[in-house]
Amino acid sequence: MDKSKAYQVSLTLALVALGLERKNHYGHLSSVVIHPEIFYSDLLEQNVKGLSLGKGIMHLSWSDFEHGWEHNDDRYNLGLHEAAHMLLICKYTHINSSYDGWTKVARQFIANQSINPIEKVMFRPYAITNLDEFWACCVEQFFEMPEMFSIKHPLIYQLTKSKLGH
Ligand SMILES: [Zn+2]
Repeated sequence: MDKSKAYQVSLTLALVALGLERKNHYGHLSSVVIHPEIFYSDLLEQNVKGLSLGKGIMHLSWSDFEHGWEHNDDRYNLGLHEAAHMLLICKYTHINSSYDGWTKVARQFIANQSINPIEKVMFRPYAITNLDEFWACCVEQFFEMPEMFSIKHPLIYQLTKSKLGH
């Protein structure tokens, strides 16, 4: 990976972890693989823009990574999204405990969206695929459209904010 790309990926990872306690947040991250464009994942058997694997490997389509930073109003930022996944993979953040406020509210939100999809405007439909994707999309919105997020979904916004240490 050339230096400029390495800096941009590192800055993205650092931004997501900025509010968190000083620890090795991405302790299991072993490598970042840059693909020029969208690429095929054997694991998912489909074309993807990014992928963060349990082995600590992050795959990014560079054109989509750049697009994420060039367009702040499209609710999509691949780098932030994959960094959020990596925090979970590295077990820095947990989202599956029933004692966790964010998890409770997120589960409820996903269930309600499946019944009444009227509020999908804030989140991409993909966000309600599962709890992991919802977390990654919340992190994207927290940095990309914090104002809209805080107005439309104040509780989830506050809980996401607090999970990110802000
Ligand atoms: Zn994802």
